[in-house]
Formats: sequence, C-alpha cells, structure tokens
Amino acid sequence: MRRAKILATLGPASRDPAVIEALIASGANGVRINMSHGTHEEKAEDIRRARAAALRLQRPLSVLADLSGPKIRTRQLKDGKPVTLETGALFRLTTRSVVGDAKQVATNYPDLPRVVQPGARLLLDDGAIALLVEDTTETDVVCRVINGGVLGERKGINLPGISLPIASLTEKDIEDLNWAVAQDVDYIALSFVRRAEDCVQAKSLINKAGGRAPLVAKIEKAEAIDHLDDIIAAADAIMVARGDLGVETSVELVPVYQKRIIEKSVHVGKMVITATQMLQSMVTSPRPTRAEASDVANAVWDGTDALMLSNETATGQYPVPAVETMCRIIESAESGKNSESNHVAKWAGRQSGRVSRALCEAAAFAAEEMGTRVTAVLTESGLMARRLSALRPEQRIVALTSSRNVQNELSLIWGVEALITPRANSTEEMLKSGEKTLLDAGAVENGEMIVVMAGRLSGLGLSSSVTLFTVGASLSPSST
Ligand code: PEP
Repeated sequence: MRRAKILATLGPASRDPAVIEALIASGANGVRINMSHGTHEEKAEDIRRARAAALRLQRPLSVLADLSGPKIRTRQLKDGKPVTLETGALFRLTTRSVVGDAKQVATNYPDLPRVVQPGARLLLDDGAIALLVEDTTETDVVCRVINGGVLGERKGINLPGISLPIASLTEKDIEDLNWAVAQDVDYIALSFVRRAEDCVQAKSLINKAGGRAPLVAKIEKAEAIDHLDDIIAAADAIMVARGDLGVETSVELVPVYQKRIIEKSVHVGKMVITATQMLQSMVTSPRPTRAEASDVANAVWDGTDALMLSNETATGQYPVPAVETMCRIIESAESGKNSESNHVAKWAGRQSGRVSRALCEAAAFAAEEMGTRVTAVLTESGLMARRLSALRPEQRIVALTSSRNVQNELSLIWGVEALITPRANSTEEMLKSGEKTLLDAGAVENGEMIVVMAGRLSGLGLSSSVTLFTVGASLSPSST
C-alpha cells in the first residue's frame, strides 16, 4: 500500500480523456491545473474529464488549481520564433510595446526599469540565460548577456535577491481564484508567496468567494525562506516549488531547503508537496535516470506527503509511464527503508497543547501497543485524519467520511485512504456503518482488532475519542 501520493500536472500531453484515465488508474491521486497556460474553458474541460475518469474508476481525486502569481515574463517575439541571445551581446528588456528579436524583448512588468540597478543579475527562462544590468532608462533595462542561449516567447524573468514592490495576487490571479472556487477545486496554490500576509489575503479571497479549498503556499523565493515559519503557519499546505526556488536562490540550496520545508511542515501537520523535475528525463525518455530515482526516493524519506509531476505528464512523451515509474520508486522506497519519519519515537515527547494531537498520539500508541494494522478515523472535516497522518504511523489510516469533497481533499495526504460512509445519527449507527464500509472495501477482516478514533462529530457520543474495536464482534468498543 503506497503511502506518499502523486500529483500529476495536466497539459497538452494529458488532455485526452483516455490518458487522464490512465494517469489516475496508474496511481495519480490528484491533478494540477496550471493557470499559467490556457483558457478557463480548456481548464474547465480538463477538470470535468479528470473528475469523470475518477468517478469511472471509483477513485478519489484531488483537483489543485495553481495560480500563476506575480510572475514577470517576456512578451511575444517576431513570428513567434525563438531568438538566440549571444554571450557578450547587449540585450534590452523594455516596457515599450515592441515585437521582440535578438536585441530586445518587451516585459509584462511596467516597473522593471525602476526596481533594478546596474550590476543586478537577471535570469531568463528558469535561469537558462543570465543577464547583467548595465544601465536603465525610463522604459528600458540595458543588459549584457552573461550566459547566452535560445529564448522563446513569454519566458519567466527572475530577479534573484531583489524585493519587488508588486502585488502578491495579480488581477489575473484574482480572476483565476474566483474561477477555481466556482469549479469547486480541492486545493488552490499560490505562486511566489513572499510573506504570511500573501496567504492570509488569498485565503480571505477564497472565503469571500464561498470556496472551501485549502491554500497551498508555493515556496520558491528567498523571501519566503526568510519567512518560512510564518508562511507555514498561515497556509493550509506547502509546496516545495524547486524550479523557481533553484533560480531565485541557487541550485545547491534546493536540497537544503527541501529538507527544511518538509520537516517544518510535517511537524505542524501541514500537507507538503515536493515538485519539479522529479523525473525530468522522462519528458523525452521512457526510463528515468538513477539520480531521478534517488531524488524521488529521498523526497519520500524526507517525509513529503505528495510528489508532483510537471512537464513529465503535462507536455512529455511518456505521461503514463512517468506516473507508473513514480509509483514503483515510491513503493520501493517505502518498503526498502524503514524511514525514521515512520517511527513513533520521532513524535513522542512533544507538547503542542492541542487536543487533536493528543488524541492522535493516543491512537498511534494504542495501535503500536496492540499491534493493530488499521486505524479508522471518523471525520467530518478530514482534520483528524490529517493530524494522524502527520505522525506518519506504521498502521494504515482509513478515513471514514460522508463528504465526497473531504474524500477528494484527503487523497493527497500521506497514508490516508478515505472511504465514503453514510452520515449517522448515533454512535452505534456510526460504528455499524463504518464497520460495514471497512469490510466492504476489504480494509479490515472480521475478528480483527482496530483502533477507531473520531474527530469532532456533531451530536455523537464518539466525538473526540479513541477506542479499540473488534470488527464483527459486537457494536461496543473492546474492553480488554
Ligand atoms: C516550480 O517553480 O517548481 C513550480 C512548481 O512552479 P511552476 O511550475 O508553476 O513554475
């Protein structure tokens, strides 16, 4: 049973309904809708197809809408054709509306000439091209090309180390956020988060739009690393967005930050996704490199909840083999090394003062003590299943919920298998229907002892409790 989850980005290579279905059948637990490209109509169709496929396969599926954030980009080029920037040549980034060529290109950021100084380093296309600012005018930034390369249209411009006076959510982000809420997505991710206030603002917009989606803060700027604890506290979940993080900081810092971000997130029970270039070579090759296999395994051992595929499934030639390969590597990592993060000793002794944490620790200890295989979590909001997952227990975590939305949300949470169970009016009814759901799904066997825990359940006696329960023996909790 695989515990770490897979989030697959949809794109031109995976828009076909049969491919989407194959991605989910081979193990994708969620799909990412990248709002940086395409129209709302195309995205709505992608979501519709993904949900229909999940329904056909009877699998839960998280849909995550990823807002572009204040990404600075170049604009169009003559005839849409890439141009070559020669090392040593001069190149202008301009706010004038020009059609770009090998000498200049327009940018979507009107303040660029005011925020950079001579001597600043600018990076184009995820760092593939490096520029050094020599001069600025009212409208232009005049640069020397330090590392040349081929520049396509609408590529990212990164300004490492420069704090930008720029809104965290652009007008497009706000439009996309409202659209995502209307699509009832399960998660909304915000790019280029710099401070906790960015998360607070995005969450309040989701709330105002009547949405339920937890906010995922993408950590991809040095400023976000400086405010990491506050951002983790303010967001509902975190993404280690290694692509931009490697450009905005430096590539050798990515593994250091990855470990730090995952550890801090898991410690406070926030879901964390590790993203970008996990199986990059599979964009063009049917097999990954050894280094990529190790990277995926190490993210699992770091304790990530989910691992993301980007170009591999969005534009690559082998979207389905990429998911299959990732599944196999995760399973091998999980069975091949008894990860420290899976051990009770890791979390024992902490005093968070939270009731939910205390209950989860009690459940995990009971499971260890009794040698049970399964902990069933009766949960309305999914919170208690998330909290238990954060302890990374050895036992299977089966969340029982009456909400399809909660089931889909939990699909990206480490180790959680969520089953739909009918809403009950009494404790007895709840245990009875939960037991039937577990038996029908083949999650437990008659006569087996399991741990049953409950979060806050309105009006039920089992609320906020941990109990041992023998499947099929009786409807009362075990007393021995
Ligand atoms: C990243 O930069 O790693 C990332 C996940 O963001 P995006 O793919 O949106 O650039």
